[in-house]
Amino acid sequence: MLAELLGLVAPPRCCLCAQECGLREQLCERCESGLRGLAPCSTPVPGLDAAWSAAPYEGVARDLVVALKFAARLPLARRVGAVIAERAPTDLLEGVIVPVPAAPARRRWRGFDAAEGIAAALSFETGLPLGRCLRRSQGRRQVGRPRSERLAAPPRVRLAGPPPDAAVLVDDVVTTGATLGACARALRAGGCGRVVALTFARSR
Ligand SMILES: [Zn+2]
Repeated sequence: MLAELLGLVAPPRCCLCAQECGLREQLCERCESGLRGLAPCSTPVPGLDAAWSAAPYEGVARDLVVALKFAARLPLARRVGAVIAERAPTDLLEGVIVPVPAAPARRRWRGFDAAEGIAAALSFETGLPLGRCLRRSQGRRQVGRPRSERLAAPPRVRLAGPPPDAAVLVDDVVTTGATLGACARALRAGGCGRVVALTFARSR
């Protein structure tokens, strides 16, 4: 009701390109169509049983991640979670959804955690339980570091609660897989048997 009334005053705008879009939609038809044109991809990551991404990190997918991270828009996290739920292979949608933890300082600074927002949306879409059982210790940022350095010094991740038997790690972007690998090691050390990862975008 409120959305309809507001729609009369100011037509809803696409979160990415500011074109008019449908009521209750986050993206316009053109951006949705750009997203549909990007194919999902799987990449082996050491320590994981499977790692799948809904799209390559390019075009609309990249714009979406940037908007999500830097404008901290929760409705966009819902759209991203829904895209993962629509596209992910069903055999990977089994277990407990575990968001990849952000470094503490980053989280405080933004007040919004993209991975956690996407994980909550994916849990809502799939009905799978959400388990925030990982924490990240303060360490050097991964972003902006050379690939070799990232792989040599992955972030420190520890358990903050009992891990599930099967975990579905969720993050916005995977690059080297070093962070996912560190999460998988912490989960397996606690007795988790199966670890897969679903990310929105795959960067190279
Ligand atoms: Zn748009």
